[in-house]
Amino acid sequence: MFREIWVDEKVKDLKLTDNILSKVSNIPIKYTKDCSTVISKIKASLDPVRKGKKVLLLTQNKGPFLVSCPGTKNYVCCGYKILNLTTNCNLDCSYCILQAYFFNNPIIQIFTNLDSMSNELNFLNDSFYRIGTGEFTDSLSLDDITGFTKFIIPFFTQKKNAILELKTKTANIKNLLNIKDHKNIIISWSLNPPKIIKEEESGTASLSKRLESANVCETHKYALGFHFDPIIRYPNWEKDYKKLIDTLFSNINPEHIIWISLGTLRFMPTLKPIIEERFPNTSIIYDEFITGLDDKLRYFKPIRIDIYQKVLSWIREYSDNVFVYLCMESTNVWEKVFGYRQTTAGLSNALDKRAKEFFKKGVK
Ligand code: SF4
Repeated sequence: MFREIWVDEKVKDLKLTDNILSKVSNIPIKYTKDCSTVISKIKASLDPVRKGKKVLLLTQNKGPFLVSCPGTKNYVCCGYKILNLTTNCNLDCSYCILQAYFFNNPIIQIFTNLDSMSNELNFLNDSFYRIGTGEFTDSLSLDDITGFTKFIIPFFTQKKNAILELKTKTANIKNLLNIKDHKNIIISWSLNPPKIIKEEESGTASLSKRLESANVCETHKYALGFHFDPIIRYPNWEKDYKKLIDTLFSNINPEHIIWISLGTLRFMPTLKPIIEERFPNTSIIYDEFITGLDDKLRYFKPIRIDIYQKVLSWIREYSDNVFVYLCMESTNVWEKVFGYRQTTAGLSNALDKRAKEFFKKGVK
Protein backbone atom coordinates (compact mmCIF):
# COMPACT_ATOMS: atom_id res chain seq x y z
CA MET A 1 0.00 0.00 0.00
CA PHE A 2 2.96 2.36 0.52
CA ARG A 3 5.19 3.52 -2.31
CA GLU A 4 7.89 5.10 -0.15
CA ILE A 5 9.09 4.42 3.35
CA TRP A 6 11.26 6.93 5.16
CA VAL A 7 12.98 6.38 8.48
CA ASP A 8 14.10 9.30 10.61
CA GLU A 9 17.74 8.56 11.60
CA LYS A 10 16.77 9.31 15.22
CA VAL A 11 14.51 6.24 15.44
CA LYS A 12 16.44 3.82 13.24
CA ASP A 13 17.65 1.73 16.19
CA LEU A 14 14.31 1.46 17.98
CA LYS A 15 12.63 -1.91 18.31
CA LEU A 16 9.29 -0.77 16.95
CA THR A 17 11.00 0.75 13.91
CA ASP A 18 12.58 -2.63 13.22
CA ASN A 19 9.30 -4.47 13.71
CA ILE A 20 7.47 -2.19 11.30
CA LEU A 21 10.21 -2.39 8.67
CA SER A 22 10.08 -6.19 8.82
CA LYS A 23 6.38 -6.00 7.84
CA VAL A 24 7.01 -3.82 4.79
CA SER A 25 10.18 -5.46 3.52
CA ASN A 26 9.06 -5.35 -0.13
CA ILE A 27 9.19 -1.55 -0.26
CA PRO A 28 12.47 0.38 -0.62
CA ILE A 29 13.47 2.04 2.64
CA LYS A 30 15.23 5.40 2.75
CA TYR A 31 16.80 7.07 5.76
CA THR A 32 16.80 10.78 6.46
CA LYS A 33 18.26 13.22 8.96
CA ASP A 34 15.86 15.90 7.80
CA CYS A 35 12.18 14.87 7.74
CA SER A 36 11.10 18.35 6.65
CA THR A 37 12.70 17.85 3.22
CA VAL A 38 10.69 14.67 2.70
CA ILE A 39 7.51 16.46 3.78
CA SER A 40 8.20 19.49 1.55
CA LYS A 41 8.63 17.22 -1.47
CA ILE A 42 5.24 15.60 -0.91
CA LYS A 43 3.61 18.97 -0.24
CA ALA A 44 4.82 20.22 -3.60
CA SER A 45 3.07 17.40 -5.50
CA LEU A 46 -0.18 17.86 -7.42
CA ASP A 47 -2.37 16.10 -4.85
CA PRO A 48 -0.38 16.17 -1.58
CA VAL A 49 -3.11 14.41 0.38
CA ARG A 50 -3.31 11.46 -2.00
CA LYS A 51 0.47 11.28 -2.36
CA GLY A 52 0.95 11.57 1.41
CA LYS A 53 -1.22 8.51 1.98
CA LYS A 54 1.34 6.45 0.05
CA VAL A 55 4.32 7.68 2.04
CA LEU A 56 5.17 6.32 5.45
CA LEU A 57 7.55 8.13 7.76
CA LEU A 58 8.78 6.43 10.91
CA THR A 59 9.85 9.14 13.29
CA GLN A 60 9.69 10.33 16.87
CA ASN A 61 6.97 12.31 18.54
CA LYS A 62 8.84 15.30 19.84
CA GLY A 63 5.78 16.75 21.56
CA PRO A 64 3.36 15.23 24.06
CA PHE A 65 1.72 11.91 23.21
CA LEU A 66 -1.39 12.80 25.17
CA VAL A 67 -3.25 15.91 24.02
CA SER A 68 -6.73 17.28 24.57
CA CYS A 69 -9.16 16.76 21.70
CA PRO A 70 -9.25 20.07 19.81
CA GLY A 71 -13.06 19.86 20.12
CA THR A 72 -14.74 22.94 18.84
CA LYS A 73 -15.55 26.44 20.10
CA ASN A 74 -18.97 27.24 21.58
CA TYR A 75 -20.41 23.72 21.39
CA VAL A 76 -20.66 20.93 23.95
CA CYS A 77 -17.52 18.76 23.83
CA CYS A 78 -16.87 15.52 25.66
CA GLY A 79 -13.48 16.14 27.32
CA TYR A 80 -11.70 13.42 25.40
CA LYS A 81 -7.92 12.98 25.32
CA ILE A 82 -6.07 11.88 22.23
CA LEU A 83 -3.15 9.49 22.33
CA ASN A 84 -1.13 10.64 19.37
CA LEU A 85 0.70 7.63 17.91
CA THR A 86 0.11 8.32 14.21
CA THR A 87 -0.86 11.30 12.12
CA ASN A 88 -2.86 10.95 8.91
CA CYS A 89 -4.65 7.93 7.56
CA ASN A 90 -4.25 5.45 4.72
CA LEU A 91 -8.03 5.39 4.16
CA ASP A 92 -9.59 8.19 2.13
CA CYS A 93 -12.97 9.51 3.27
CA SER A 94 -14.11 12.49 1.22
CA TYR A 95 -15.23 14.44 4.31
CA CYS A 96 -12.08 13.71 6.36
CA ILE A 97 -11.07 16.77 8.32
CA LEU A 98 -7.44 15.63 8.40
CA GLN A 99 -7.07 16.72 4.76
CA ALA A 100 -7.21 20.30 6.02
CA TYR A 101 -5.98 19.77 9.57
CA PHE A 102 -2.67 18.25 8.49
CA PHE A 103 -2.40 20.25 5.30
CA ASN A 104 1.18 21.19 6.22
CA ASN A 105 2.21 17.60 6.65
CA PRO A 106 0.15 15.10 4.65
CA ILE A 107 2.53 12.16 5.15
CA ILE A 108 1.53 9.22 7.34
CA GLN A 109 3.80 9.56 10.34
CA ILE A 110 4.15 6.73 12.81
CA PHE A 111 5.83 7.57 16.09
CA THR A 112 8.02 4.70 17.19
CA ASN A 113 9.49 6.19 20.40
CA LEU A 114 7.04 4.31 22.60
CA ASP A 115 9.35 4.48 25.63
CA SER A 116 8.76 8.22 25.73
CA MET A 117 5.02 7.53 25.64
CA SER A 118 5.25 5.11 28.60
CA ASN A 119 7.27 7.64 30.59
CA GLU A 120 4.91 10.47 29.81
CA LEU A 121 1.80 8.49 30.76
CA ASN A 122 2.99 7.41 34.19
CA PHE A 123 0.66 9.96 35.77
CA LEU A 124 -2.46 8.23 34.47
CA ASN A 125 -3.39 6.75 37.83
CA ASP A 126 -4.06 10.22 39.28
CA SER A 127 -7.40 11.07 37.76
CA PHE A 128 -9.92 9.57 35.31
CA TYR A 129 -9.15 9.83 31.59
CA ARG A 130 -11.08 8.80 28.49
CA ILE A 131 -8.47 8.38 25.81
CA GLY A 132 -8.64 7.45 22.16
CA THR A 133 -6.23 7.02 19.27
CA GLY A 134 -8.75 7.57 16.48
CA GLU A 135 -8.84 11.34 16.05
CA PHE A 136 -5.66 11.96 14.03
CA THR A 137 -5.85 8.60 12.21
CA ASP A 138 -7.94 5.41 12.10
CA SER A 139 -7.06 3.43 15.25
CA LEU A 140 -6.74 0.03 13.56
CA SER A 141 -6.18 0.51 9.83
CA LEU A 142 -2.39 0.07 10.13
CA ASP A 143 -2.37 -2.17 13.18
CA ASP A 144 -1.15 -5.20 11.21
CA ILE A 145 1.99 -3.16 10.43
CA THR A 146 2.45 -1.17 13.64
CA GLY A 147 1.20 -3.73 16.14
CA PHE A 148 0.36 -0.76 18.40
CA THR A 149 -2.54 -2.61 20.03
CA LYS A 150 -0.18 -5.35 21.25
CA PHE A 151 1.63 -2.67 23.23
CA ILE A 152 -1.00 -0.12 24.24
CA ILE A 153 -3.76 -2.52 25.34
CA PRO A 154 -1.55 -4.25 27.96
CA PHE A 155 -0.20 -0.81 28.91
CA PHE A 156 -3.68 0.61 29.53
CA THR A 157 -5.04 -2.43 31.35
CA GLN A 158 -2.45 -1.59 34.05
CA LYS A 159 -3.97 1.87 34.50
CA LYS A 160 -6.68 2.08 37.12
CA ASN A 161 -8.18 5.39 36.05
CA ALA A 162 -8.08 5.39 32.29
CA ILE A 163 -10.02 3.80 29.51
CA LEU A 164 -8.82 3.50 25.94
CA GLU A 165 -11.10 3.65 22.89
CA LEU A 166 -9.88 2.39 19.53
CA LYS A 167 -12.05 3.81 16.77
CA THR A 168 -12.07 2.34 13.27
CA LYS A 169 -13.77 1.92 9.92
CA THR A 170 -11.92 -1.30 9.20
CA ALA A 171 -12.11 -5.00 9.97
CA ASN A 172 -8.47 -5.08 11.08
CA ILE A 173 -9.01 -6.81 14.42
CA LYS A 174 -6.61 -9.76 14.19
CA ASN A 175 -4.21 -8.51 16.87
CA LEU A 176 -7.08 -7.80 19.26
CA LEU A 177 -8.19 -11.40 19.36
CA ASN A 178 -4.96 -12.68 20.93
CA ILE A 179 -5.12 -10.22 23.83
CA LYS A 180 -6.79 -11.83 26.83
CA ASP A 181 -6.93 -8.95 29.30
CA HIS A 182 -8.69 -5.91 27.87
CA LYS A 183 -10.86 -4.92 30.80
CA ASN A 184 -10.86 -1.15 30.13
CA ILE A 185 -10.63 -1.16 26.33
CA ILE A 186 -13.39 -0.12 23.93
CA ILE A 187 -13.42 -1.03 20.27
CA SER A 188 -15.60 1.36 18.31
CA TRP A 189 -16.84 1.52 14.77
CA SER A 190 -17.97 4.55 12.83
CA LEU A 191 -21.04 3.54 10.89
CA ASN A 192 -22.78 4.85 7.83
CA PRO A 193 -25.21 3.31 5.33
CA PRO A 194 -23.63 1.25 2.49
CA LYS A 195 -24.33 4.06 -0.01
CA ILE A 196 -22.16 6.52 1.97
CA ILE A 197 -19.47 3.92 2.62
CA LYS A 198 -19.29 3.15 -1.10
CA GLU A 199 -19.38 6.74 -2.32
CA GLU A 200 -17.57 8.66 0.44
CA GLU A 201 -15.39 6.32 2.50
CA SER A 202 -12.82 4.99 0.07
CA GLY A 203 -10.63 2.15 1.30
CA THR A 204 -12.74 1.41 4.39
CA ALA A 205 -14.44 -1.89 5.21
CA SER A 206 -18.02 -2.50 4.09
CA LEU A 207 -20.78 -2.20 6.66
CA SER A 208 -21.15 -5.98 6.86
CA LYS A 209 -17.39 -6.42 7.47
CA ARG A 210 -17.44 -3.74 10.19
CA LEU A 211 -20.38 -5.37 11.94
CA GLU A 212 -18.93 -8.85 11.50
CA SER A 213 -15.75 -7.59 13.21
CA ALA A 214 -17.78 -5.95 15.98
CA ASN A 215 -19.55 -9.23 16.46
CA VAL A 216 -16.25 -11.11 16.77
CA CYS A 217 -14.99 -8.54 19.30
CA GLU A 218 -18.25 -8.95 21.18
CA THR A 219 -17.70 -12.68 21.48
CA HIS A 220 -14.20 -11.86 22.79
CA LYS A 221 -15.89 -9.70 25.42
CA TYR A 222 -14.61 -6.33 24.32
CA ALA A 223 -16.72 -3.30 25.19
CA LEU A 224 -18.15 -1.87 21.97
CA GLY A 225 -18.85 1.70 20.90
CA PHE A 226 -20.55 2.99 17.76
CA HIS A 227 -20.34 6.42 16.19
CA PHE A 228 -22.90 7.65 13.68
CA ASP A 229 -20.69 10.51 12.67
CA PRO A 230 -20.91 12.15 10.24
CA ILE A 231 -24.57 11.52 9.56
CA ILE A 232 -25.07 12.76 6.02
CA ARG A 233 -28.37 13.95 4.59
CA TYR A 234 -29.46 12.93 1.09
CA PRO A 235 -32.79 11.98 -0.52
CA ASN A 236 -34.23 9.04 1.44
CA TRP A 237 -31.52 9.19 4.10
CA GLU A 238 -34.14 8.19 6.68
CA LYS A 239 -34.77 4.82 5.08
CA ASP A 240 -31.05 3.99 4.90
CA TYR A 241 -30.19 5.13 8.45
CA LYS A 242 -33.21 3.30 9.90
CA LYS A 243 -32.06 0.16 8.11
CA LEU A 244 -28.51 0.72 9.39
CA ILE A 245 -29.78 0.83 12.96
CA ASP A 246 -31.93 -2.27 12.40
CA THR A 247 -28.82 -4.04 11.07
CA LEU A 248 -26.67 -2.89 14.00
CA PHE A 249 -29.07 -4.21 16.61
CA SER A 250 -29.73 -7.45 14.78
CA ASN A 251 -25.98 -8.13 15.08
CA ILE A 252 -25.03 -6.62 18.44
CA ASN A 253 -26.51 -6.93 21.93
CA PRO A 254 -27.17 -3.38 23.26
CA GLU A 255 -25.94 -4.53 26.68
CA HIS A 256 -22.44 -4.73 25.21
CA ILE A 257 -22.46 -1.19 23.84
CA ILE A 258 -20.84 1.37 26.13
CA TRP A 259 -21.98 4.34 24.07
CA ILE A 260 -23.25 5.57 20.74
CA SER A 261 -22.44 9.06 19.50
CA LEU A 262 -24.33 11.08 16.90
CA GLY A 263 -22.91 13.93 14.87
CA THR A 264 -24.02 15.48 11.61
CA LEU A 265 -21.75 16.49 8.75
CA ARG A 266 -19.72 19.61 9.53
CA PHE A 267 -16.53 20.98 8.09
CA MET A 268 -14.20 23.93 8.13
CA PRO A 269 -14.63 26.21 5.10
CA THR A 270 -10.99 25.50 4.16
CA LEU A 271 -11.88 21.83 3.68
CA LYS A 272 -14.48 22.54 0.98
CA PRO A 273 -12.08 23.41 -1.88
CA ILE A 274 -9.95 20.38 -0.99
CA ILE A 275 -12.99 18.09 -1.22
CA GLU A 276 -14.08 19.77 -4.46
CA GLU A 277 -10.67 19.19 -5.96
CA ARG A 278 -10.11 15.65 -4.70
CA PHE A 279 -13.66 14.27 -4.91
CA PRO A 280 -15.31 15.94 -7.92
CA ASN A 281 -18.17 13.41 -7.88
CA THR A 282 -19.27 14.01 -4.33
CA SER A 283 -22.45 15.96 -3.68
CA ILE A 284 -22.38 16.04 0.13
CA ILE A 285 -20.81 19.51 0.33
CA TYR A 286 -23.47 21.10 -1.86
CA ASP A 287 -26.32 20.82 0.64
CA GLU A 288 -27.45 24.00 2.42
CA PHE A 289 -25.18 24.91 5.33
CA ILE A 290 -24.88 27.70 7.83
CA THR A 291 -21.68 28.88 9.46
CA GLY A 292 -21.82 27.64 13.04
CA LEU A 293 -20.49 29.36 16.17
CA ASP A 294 -17.22 27.52 15.61
CA ASP A 295 -16.98 28.82 12.00
CA LYS A 296 -17.63 25.32 10.65
CA LEU A 297 -20.30 24.72 8.05
CA ARG A 298 -23.23 22.73 9.42
CA TYR A 299 -26.79 21.84 8.47
CA PHE A 300 -29.39 24.31 9.74
CA LYS A 301 -30.32 23.74 13.35
CA PRO A 302 -33.91 22.49 12.71
CA ILE A 303 -32.49 19.95 10.25
CA ARG A 304 -29.90 18.74 12.76
CA ILE A 305 -32.54 18.45 15.45
CA ASP A 306 -34.81 16.48 13.11
CA ILE A 307 -31.96 14.11 12.20
CA TYR A 308 -30.97 13.50 15.84
CA GLN A 309 -34.58 13.02 16.99
CA LYS A 310 -35.23 10.47 14.28
CA VAL A 311 -31.97 8.54 14.74
CA LEU A 312 -32.43 8.51 18.52
CA SER A 313 -36.02 7.22 18.21
CA TRP A 314 -34.84 4.39 15.94
CA ILE A 315 -32.16 3.46 18.48
CA ARG A 316 -34.73 3.59 21.30
CA GLU A 317 -36.85 1.00 19.47
CA TYR A 318 -34.10 -1.46 20.44
CA SER A 319 -32.85 -0.13 23.74
CA ASP A 320 -34.26 2.28 26.33
CA ASN A 321 -30.98 2.72 28.09
CA VAL A 322 -28.06 2.44 25.68
CA PHE A 323 -26.00 5.61 26.30
CA VAL A 324 -26.36 8.06 23.42
CA TYR A 325 -24.67 11.45 23.18
CA LEU A 326 -24.17 14.19 20.63
CA CYS A 327 -20.74 15.16 19.36
CA MET A 328 -20.01 18.91 19.22
CA GLU A 329 -23.58 20.16 19.41
CA SER A 330 -25.19 23.18 21.05
CA THR A 331 -26.97 23.11 24.42
CA ASN A 332 -30.07 24.15 22.59
CA VAL A 333 -29.95 21.15 20.26
CA TRP A 334 -29.35 18.89 23.27
CA GLU A 335 -32.48 20.29 24.88
CA LYS A 336 -34.61 19.68 21.80
CA VAL A 337 -33.31 16.13 21.37
CA PHE A 338 -32.94 14.92 24.98
CA GLY A 339 -35.13 17.37 26.88
CA TYR A 340 -32.30 18.91 28.92
CA ARG A 341 -29.49 21.39 28.36
CA GLN A 342 -26.04 19.82 28.37
CA THR A 343 -22.67 21.42 29.14
CA THR A 344 -19.12 20.34 28.39
CA ALA A 345 -18.49 19.57 32.06
CA GLY A 346 -21.84 17.76 32.30
CA LEU A 347 -21.16 15.58 29.26
CA SER A 348 -17.62 14.83 30.37
CA ASN A 349 -18.85 13.74 33.82
CA ALA A 350 -21.68 11.68 32.34
CA LEU A 351 -19.27 9.81 30.04
CA ASP A 352 -16.81 9.21 32.89
CA LYS A 353 -19.64 7.85 35.04
CA ARG A 354 -20.92 5.67 32.21
CA ALA A 355 -17.44 4.23 31.59
CA LYS A 356 -16.82 3.51 35.29
CA GLU A 357 -20.18 1.79 35.74
CA PHE A 358 -19.89 -0.16 32.49
CA PHE A 359 -16.43 -1.51 33.26
CA LYS A 360 -17.33 -2.25 36.89
CA LYS A 361 -20.04 -4.56 35.60
CA GLY A 362 -17.79 -5.84 32.79
CA VAL A 363 -18.88 -7.43 29.51
CA LYS A 364 -20.69 -10.72 30.21
S1 SF4 B 1 -11.07 6.72 8.48
FE1 SF4 B 1 -11.18 8.63 9.67
S2 SF4 B 1 -9.09 9.40 9.66
FE2 SF4 B 1 -9.22 7.90 8.02
S3 SF4 B 1 -9.73 9.04 6.15
FE3 SF4 B 1 -11.67 8.35 7.06
S4 SF4 B 1 -12.35 10.04 8.39
FE4 SF4 B 1 -10.16 10.37 7.93
